[in-house]
Amino acid sequence: MINKYIKIILILLFIILFITTIINIFILNMTNLLFMILNILVWILISTILFSSFITYRVILDKEVSIKLMKINLNIFTKLFNMITYLSYIFDFSKDDIRKIYIKLNNSYIYKNKYNIDNKDILVLIPHCIQKNSCKLKVTSSINNCKSCGICNVSDLLKLNEKFGVEVFIATGGTLARKKIIEKRPKAVVAVACERDLTSGIQDIKNIPVLGVFNKRPNGPCFDTKIDIKEVEDAIIFLIGN
Ligand code: SF4
Repeated sequence: MINKYIKIILILLFIILFITTIINIFILNMTNLLFMILNILVWILISTILFSSFITYRVILDKEVSIKLMKINLNIFTKLFNMITYLSYIFDFSKDDIRKIYIKLNNSYIYKNKYNIDNKDILVLIPHCIQKNSCKLKVTSSINNCKSCGICNVSDLLKLNEKFGVEVFIATGGTLARKKIIEKRPKAVVAVACERDLTSGIQDIKNIPVLGVFNKRPNGPCFDTKIDIKEVEDAIIFLIGN
């Protein structure tokens, strides 16, 4: 994952330098001042990308990074995110690897903070594909409709709901999940989803911590997916501050 990320960054730097060189050589009738401004901006951009890559590399390898640098880097990575994922697409690298890096940066930054959030202010968002496909119970309207047969992870989520008193909402899609956040106004979210949905969801939700947990897809995407319940439980315990 980190090797692919470094390759994408090197490609990005090469493109920036190539375009700058072309402009410098061929647009000869620019004034000197314009040349100077252009080159200064390019070197600021390159320095920012190099700084971000260095911090990202350290965070991915779980090396010590100060909370301030983590926050600055998360902001830079968010700004560069679309460009990096687009380059991944062009050069046939997995976009999900870049998304995984984004979630790792986000979660590492949140875990570096301290929270003491009331359990009622924590929302656990779960995709509907977690429910066993053959089960016809309407758990999207209320998780309490689950009969706890244990075939899918919904019964584990019900136990988390009873144990911690946090609201668990099973959403049929991203729009409904966003609507739920607007209505409930939680102070923190634990979101379970695939790489793509988690990334877009976390980028949409501003000003509150959102811990992302990837679902597992042994049966392919969006069908009878699974969750590592321990990961969700750890996230809740951390946000409550125990
Ligand atoms: S655990 Fe609940 S939701 Fe899952 S199959 Fe059993 S009854 Fe249905």
